[in-house]
Amino acid sequence: MWGKTYNIKNIYMGRLSYDGDLAEEINNFCSKNDIKTGWVSVIGALKTVRLGFYDQDRQEYVFLDDIHSDKPFEISSCSGNISIKDGKPFAHIHIVASTRDGKCYGGHVMPGTKIYAGEFMIQVFAGEELIRGVDEITGLPLWQE
Ligand code: ZN
Repeated sequence: MWGKTYNIKNIYMGRLSYDGDLAEEINNFCSKNDIKTGWVSVIGALKTVRLGFYDQDRQEYVFLDDIHSDKPFEISSCSGNISIKDGKPFAHIHIVASTRDGKCYGGHVMPGTKIYAGEFMIQVFAGEELIRGVDEITGLPLWQE
C-alpha cells in the first residue's frame, strides 16, 4: 500500500453537454483545462448507460447485459478520479444509475453512456502526477508508484 499527498488547487462546477458521452466529455474538459490529477462527481440523468464489470478470471471488461437497452436513467451517484494514462488526462469513473422504479445498477462507466443532463464538479489537485501502467497481477491499468 502506498499513497501520495495533494492539495486542492481549484474546483470547477459545470454542465455536461446534452447527448455527450459522459467519460469523453470529462476527458476532453480535463485536456482542455490541463487537469492532470483530480476527483470528479456528477449528478443528473442519462439517455443511455453502458456499464462494465471487470471479469477477474478473464481479466477483461464485460458489459452488464440486462441494462444494454437505451432506457433513461437517473445519475444517483457518479464519481471518479483523474490521472494520466497513455500520456493524457484520463477519468476513471464509476456510477450508480437508477431506473423509474428506483432500481439501481452500478459499475464502471464505458463508452456509450450518453448524457441527458449532467452537473459536474471537478476538484483539481496540485502534486505529483499519478500515471497508469499495466499491472501484471490484475491486468488493469493501475497507478504506478
Ligand atoms: Zn473501474
